[in-house]
Amino acid sequence: MRVLVIEDETQLAAQVAERLQSEGYVVDLANDGRTGLHLAQDYPIDLAIVDLGLPELSGLELIRRLRADGSRLPVLVLTARHQWQDRVEGLEAGADDYLTKPFRMEELLARMNALLRRAAGFAHPVLIAGPLALDTRAKQASMEGQPVALTAFEYRVLEYLMHRPGQAVSKTELTEHLYPDEADRDSNVIEVFVRRLRQKLDPDGTLQPIQTQRGLGYALRPGLGGDGR
Ligand code: CA
Repeated sequence: MRVLVIEDETQLAAQVAERLQSEGYVVDLANDGRTGLHLAQDYPIDLAIVDLGLPELSGLELIRRLRADGSRLPVLVLTARHQWQDRVEGLEAGADDYLTKPFRMEELLARMNALLRRAAGFAHPVLIAGPLALDTRAKQASMEGQPVALTAFEYRVLEYLMHRPGQAVSKTELTEHLYPDEADRDSNVIEVFVRRLRQKLDPDGTLQPIQTQRGLGYALRPGLGGDGR
């Protein structure tokens, strides 16, 4: 998952970026509203964290412009303490949730997790697709109730697919959302990870939870479930 952090307090921005990266997110940083808006419009971002008090272009204006463009990017707003008007205005401008500074990183991660799930149509922290379950809090996958040990990257590939039930996801899309450095984006590597993921989830090949759609990419098998319960 690729997260855009738009925050002009560089120390806070760096702290947030470092923690998100350690959790496996790909992070793009902007220190002003104008840059942030460009990144949000031009990059394949999954979620934006937006400070409201920004130079160049305010967080509120940035969110209004994004929404005016028809963007449904999940937006988590950061507001200063005691400024409840900001929260109301932020939500009215089209933000999905807010967090008041100072905040704990765990709180930020929990809110982000909830927004990403909601954007994918899941109300519950455990994503279900038929026999396949993904606990997004414990970062644990299971197949027919049996835990499946995945590496961090395999987990991220599966999480990305499970957030898009029924949609084909291309190798390019996966690399753009899961790799921080362009130099590392090799779609052959994605093939290897998907193959391993299939072997781990479905060793005898009976369920085939991840299908290859020729020319389109990978998708969870339709009929596997994924109705979000
Ligand atoms: Ca600020």
